[in-house]
Amino acid sequence: MSAQNPAAGGPVVDGPHDPEHDPRASYALEPDYTAALTARVLATSGTSAEVRSPLDDAPLAHIPQSTDADVAEAFARARRAQVAWSRTSLDHRASLLLRLHDLILDRQDEIIDLIQLESGKARKHAFDEPLHVALTARYYARTAHQHLDTRRKIGVVPGLTRVEVNRIPKGVVGIISPWNYPFTMALVDGLPALLAGNAVVAKPDHQTMLSALLAVELLEQAGFPKDLWQVVAGPGSHIGPEIVGRADYICFTGSTATGRLIAQGCADRLIGCSLELGGKNPLLVLRDADLEKAAEGAVRASFSNSGQLCVSMERIFVADQVYDRFVERFVARTEALTLGATLQWGNDMGPLISQQQLETVTAHVDDAVAKGARVLTGGRARPDLAPYFYEPTILEGVSPDMTCFGHETFGPVVSLYRFHDEADAIARANDGQYGLNASIYSRDGERARAIAKLVKCGTVNINEAFAATFASLDAPMGGMRESGMGRRQGGEGILRYTETQSVATQRLIRFAPQLGMSDEAYAKMMTANLRLMKKLGRP
Ligand code: NAD
Repeated sequence: MSAQNPAAGGPVVDGPHDPEHDPRASYALEPDYTAALTARVLATSGTSAEVRSPLDDAPLAHIPQSTDADVAEAFARARRAQVAWSRTSLDHRASLLLRLHDLILDRQDEIIDLIQLESGKARKHAFDEPLHVALTARYYARTAHQHLDTRRKIGVVPGLTRVEVNRIPKGVVGIISPWNYPFTMALVDGLPALLAGNAVVAKPDHQTMLSALLAVELLEQAGFPKDLWQVVAGPGSHIGPEIVGRADYICFTGSTATGRLIAQGCADRLIGCSLELGGKNPLLVLRDADLEKAAEGAVRASFSNSGQLCVSMERIFVADQVYDRFVERFVARTEALTLGATLQWGNDMGPLISQQQLETVTAHVDDAVAKGARVLTGGRARPDLAPYFYEPTILEGVSPDMTCFGHETFGPVVSLYRFHDEADAIARANDGQYGLNASIYSRDGERARAIAKLVKCGTVNINEAFAATFASLDAPMGGMRESGMGRRQGGEGILRYTETQSVATQRLIRFAPQLGMSDEAYAKMMTANLRLMKKLGRP
């Protein structure tokens, strides 16, 4: 039976089921649709890898696998395309981003279907992805000149030395992305790279290739030249090093362990990289917090996308005075979540993406419970809902000997800790090697902002879980310490893809003794000059 997705209108072949009564409904995709998408992978190996849906474990597609030679060819094509692209006007490139913005909003149902099918996430969390990419496209299109225009700088001799700084594209950027936000992560870092005049070779995660390939189709539909964005497929450990070996810059999002390998590869070649890595993010509920707001935010912070979110909260520190009242509200709200594995709107949380994720989450909770932690809610797998479903889980009594105390779970598991004084809470929030995202709930914004400066995280959200910083595109986003290097978003998010070039035009004088002047007289004159410039207040 072939039909449109009843929730949306996308290319889903709707299995013989009633999703309202059969949460284990089987979904599939039109073969022509997947064939058109997978044809965009540059791959000649003749082998393919199967992608299955975590909603029902049904096969979705076979993805052709790339060889090292394919990666080399992808870079060759991208390099040729980049030369012509870098000569197009900034206004033209920005106009294509605005067209992409509209296309993404127009085709959002199809995009969301595919994201859900590949990742299993609830529809409302899948919607965050086109939303974020559209926001990014618009932000960079509208701020292109602000970031990339040639800038005048102060010349050494006032009026006689004209200095300009140009932003030159790096060339071909390698983008290696994870599965947790398959559409956003595949596309969002590449948009500023394109705007700055680069080409891209992308290697999305093998579990979520279709969403990334749909992104490429949208780029082409928006008018970006065909060869400008190449996609290769395969296990990161196989073709990843080949990408690092050929790119002019690497943008990597994924685990800290892989990020370290990427950084080593880039160091060998003396190329730059930005690394968006893991976290063990803390949320602080201060004694003057609005507890309803804090509990609502804590639920989103901990269980959005089943906790498979880099900026997700896995540690909540609550002031003694409000601990019991907060916990009561937090647990009640968590237990009220609608769990489900369907394409319909209305679910608050979907399954994990894979057996591997389920095993990690189960191991973290079982280890904590075996060592004395208490489960306030959740704490078990739900195979009745989907193969890799795990309940939203709140733990209390987690201690440093438990794995989930300091290691990222990357699942729907959060630990609660009581604190007596704020200095202690800040110190405990700063404990460990990560520093990605933090959240502070307090009615006193000024005090919360002062505390934010003491928290070693690249983003801090006050009275919000994570969306306020993540969606504020003008502000940089990224991790301190082992959560990353470099930033996405804002000026830093685009300037990383450029080389700075300083051009100085000198007139009338030269930087050497003139008209028979001795070196000594020249040195004296320059010394007097320096003293004068300082007196005049010159920088
Ligand atoms: P991962 O590091 O295993 O994989 C990420 C990507 O790297 C995939 O495309 C993978 O194929 C590729 N890869 C794997 N080994 C490679 C190698 N040797 N060389 C080159 N590429 C290689 O990460 P994961 O476990 O799939 O993703 C989850 C992690 O990503 C979590 O730690 C999460 O916190 C992090 N993450 C961070 C952000 C952020 O913005 N900071 C966003 C999303 C996810």
